[in-house]
Amino acid sequence: MSERKDQAATAPKRDKPTIVEGPPGYMGTGFFATSADKAIGLARKNSLWPLPFATSCCGIEFMSLMSSHYDLARFGMERLSFSPRQSDLLMVMGTIAKKMAPVLREVYTQMAEPKWVLSMGACASSGGVFDTYSVLQGIDRVIPVDVYVPGCPPRPEQVIDGIMQIQQLAQNESLRRRYSKEYEDLLTKYKID
Ligand code: SF4
Repeated sequence: MSERKDQAATAPKRDKPTIVEGPPGYMGTGFFATSADKAIGLARKNSLWPLPFATSCCGIEFMSLMSSHYDLARFGMERLSFSPRQSDLLMVMGTIAKKMAPVLREVYTQMAEPKWVLSMGACASSGGVFDTYSVLQGIDRVIPVDVYVPGCPPRPEQVIDGIMQIQQLAQNESLRRRYSKEYEDLLTKYKID
């Protein structure tokens, strides 16, 4: 009995689990008020649905990122989407051949706004070691990229860091940004309607 008491006394105290922090706002007895921007940003940040556009070895690294050890589901991302219309984070992983560039572009244009793009690894970001006639020297030649993750292949921790940066973008983006002149100019530069 006394041994059990000793164990209870030395057991580490567990904090109450926190799922996500609430947005900044005003709180009083029985109410909490915040702005629509902040509430929607919080929801977007924690419910990104990635579309994995995986073509080679970086895609295998992505599999380890999804599995139990690194567990991307911790970020609300367990639901991968292979339909562009139901995803908002395009993750490009691997060597993209020039012949594949129009397909990548088509996938991007079919995604609904707001959408973000993460380029994982040297090949997707710059062609990597494949400085050849057939390989696209970076996906930003055909679509805009929000976050680049360097490495060949990047460690899962690096990809998680990139994803957390995308989360910051999703959380802090103004609801009006997608209608702004700046965004329109960006798409015009890429000849995307
Ligand atoms: S960056 Fe390296 S690991 Fe990733 S697809 Fe290219 S060659 Fe493979």
